[in-house]
Amino acid sequence: MNFSDFGLSAALTRAIQEQGYDTPTPVQAQAIPAILAGGDVMAAAQTGTGKTAGFTLPLLERLMAEPPKGGRRTVRALILTPTRELAAQVQQSVHTYGKHLPLKSATIYGGVGMNPQIQTLRRGVDILVATPGRLLDHLRQGNADLSRVETLILDEADRMLDMGFIHDIRQIIRTLPEQRQTLLFSATFSSEIRKLAGGMLKTPTQIEV
Ligand code: AMP
Repeated sequence: MNFSDFGLSAALTRAIQEQGYDTPTPVQAQAIPAILAGGDVMAAAQTGTGKTAGFTLPLLERLMAEPPKGGRRTVRALILTPTRELAAQVQQSVHTYGKHLPLKSATIYGGVGMNPQIQTLRRGVDILVATPGRLLDHLRQGNADLSRVETLILDEADRMLDMGFIHDIRQIIRTLPEQRQTLLFSATFSSEIRKLAGGMLKTPTQIEV
């Protein structure tokens, strides 16, 4: 299997080449076509498996394939992560793979001031990477509008559950459109994860590598 088998656009293919990747990892080989097809996906994948590119590449492809609705730049993809370190890492990947695309991304996490994040949200972003608690603070203050989100990604969902974010995640999901693509990545498929997935994914493709 080669990256060219996915039929990704030239801008993404170029970014992949610039990273020096030649072969998709096992999770990428399964997740990329499933996500491109538009359905929900739940994947068991640890850090180091290439899971981040596994969801970021098809996400970017789909955002580019479908023009945004309406004129203003609004959040079209939301990526939730358990920690600010992971949020920063994921946004770095979005930035790296999307560097030839006209999409804007931003990171929102706790422990820093609200105001710069409010300014960023006001200017408009296509892809928002966030930790649940701080994002919920912004939603409560009316700083973020998630009513146009097309894709929700839960990264390291097991860690988010362990850290007690389940309630925040459910609150955030209530502000998203019912019709959307939802992707869940987790190191393991515990019974808690399956329960969470059961409530928010629709007939997901299951991937275990
Ligand atoms: P992740 O599991 O998403 O944290 O990625 C682990 C590392 O693998 C990152 O440093 C990526 O840059 C790298 N990586 C991702 N996909 C590939 C690939 N197909 N070939 C080689 N390296 C990759």
